[in-house]
Amino acid sequence: MNVYDGELVTGLLLSDGFGITQEAEDADVILINTCSVRDHAEQRALGRLRSLGALKRKQPHLVLGVLGCMAERMQETILKTAPDVDLIAGPDSYRQLPEIIRKHLNGSFGKFSIVPGDAGEDFTDIMPSRGNGINAYMAIMRGCNNYCSYCIVPHVRGRERSRHPDDIIIEIERSVEEGFPEVTLLGQNVNSYKWSDLGFHELLDRVSRVSGLKRIRFLTSHPRDLSEELIERMVMGGNICPSLHLPVQAGSDRILKLMKRRYTRSEYVSKIHKLREAVPDIAITTDLLCGFPGETENDFQQTLDLIGEVRFDDAFTFKYSPRPGTAAAAMEDDVPEAEKVERLERMIALCRKYSDNSRKEMIGREVEVLMESVSPKNASEWTGRTGCGRVTLVPGAYKQGQLVRLKVEKVLGFSLWGNPVLTV
Ligand code: SAH
Ligand code: SF4
Repeated sequence: MNVYDGELVTGLLLSDGFGITQEAEDADVILINTCSVRDHAEQRALGRLRSLGALKRKQPHLVLGVLGCMAERMQETILKTAPDVDLIAGPDSYRQLPEIIRKHLNGSFGKFSIVPGDAGEDFTDIMPSRGNGINAYMAIMRGCNNYCSYCIVPHVRGRERSRHPDDIIIEIERSVEEGFPEVTLLGQNVNSYKWSDLGFHELLDRVSRVSGLKRIRFLTSHPRDLSEELIERMVMGGNICPSLHLPVQAGSDRILKLMKRRYTRSEYVSKIHKLREAVPDIAITTDLLCGFPGETENDFQQTLDLIGEVRFDDAFTFKYSPRPGTAAAAMEDDVPEAEKVERLERMIALCRKYSDNSRKEMIGREVEVLMESVSPKNASEWTGRTGCGRVTLVPGAYKQGQLVRLKVEKVLGFSLWGNPVLTV
C-alpha cells in the first residue's frame, strides 16, 4: 500500500510540474513515506530523517517532509527527533501537497506545517506514476474497520472506504496501455470491498475482462470474509492468479480471540481445505505473529502445529510489537523479548521447511512464467514469475511481459529453474 501511495504522490507532483531527481543531494524537496505497523519500521524512518536532517543543514533551501502513517500518529516525536522537518502529511492529506510544498519553496510559509487530512479521501481521480515494469499496484479501497487488537492501521488510516469501480477500471486500462500486464488489487481487507451492490468477486469479474490484462493478484484477504463466490471466481482461473495471501496470525483460539480476529482455527483450516479442493494448484501464503500478550508456550505450539497442518507456500513472520492506542497496548506485554525472538526463529525455520518443500514439489511440472527482466546474476537467463508468484529463471532472451510455458527442472535457492516448452 505504501508503494502505491508513493506512486500516487509522485503522480500528483509530476502533474503539478515537479520532476524527479536520482540523487538526494540534487533535490529541492524530499518526502519520506512511513509505516507504523511495527516499532522497527518507525525507528528506521526516524534514523533516515536524522540523516536527511544533516543534509538539510548543508542545503537549507531543501524542503523535508514526512508522509504516511507515522506522520498521522507521532508528529511531536518526529519534530523532537528531526527538528529539520518542514512538513508532516498523513495518508489522507496528499491532495494539498503541491500547494503546500510550493509555499515552503517560496518561503511564504513559517518554519513548519502539519497538513490536515480529509477523512474519507480516496484519491480516486489521481493517476499514480508507476514508471515501468510488470506489476501495477492499485488500491481499490483505503482504511480498515476491523480493529484487530494489535493493529494500528485503523487508527492511522481511518474508516474503510471503497473506490468507485469505474475509476478502478479506468486506472487499470491505463496501466495496461502503459505496458503493465499485471495488476495487484490492494486493500487491508479486499473481501469487504463494496460499491452499492457490487462486491469484491463482482469487481474481480469486471477487472478480469479488461482487455490485455494478463494477470490479476489481490491482497489482503481476511479469513472471516473470504466468500464462496470468491473461491468460485478463483476456480474459473483465466487471468486471476491461483495464489492467495490469507493471514492467520496465530494457531490458538484463545489468542485469536484476544487478537479480535473473529475466526477460529478450525474455521480457517476448513477454508484452506475448500480452497485447495477447488483450486488444486493454488499457492497459499500467510502472516504469522508470535509473542502476543499472554501467549504461552502451549499457545505458540498451536501456531507451529497449524503451520504443519496447512503447510503454507510462504509466510511473513513477525514478533509482536505494542502499538500505542491499540486495544492490545493496554494488555501486559508479558512475553520477554528473548522469548519472542526465539519463537520467531522457530516459526521462521518451520515455515522455511514448508516453503522449500513447496518449491521442490514444482519440479517436473509445467508452469507459465510472465517474463520480467534479464536475471541480475546471469545475463544468459531471464527471470519472471509463475501465476503462483514463484520467481523462476529461464535460459534464453525474452521480452518483458511475454508469457513463456516451461517445465521446472530444478530449484536454485528461492527460485525455480526450467526450460521453455512452448512460447505463448
Ligand atoms: N490488513 C492486513 C495486513 C495488516 S499489517 C491483514 O489483515 O492481514 C501486516 C501484518 O503486520 C499483519 O498481518 C500482522 O501479522 C503484522 N502486524 C500488525 N500489527 C503488528 C504489531 N503490532 N506487531 C507485530 N506485527 C504486526
Ligand atoms: Fe489491521 Fe486487522 Fe485491519 Fe488487517 S484487518 S489492517 S490486521 S485491523
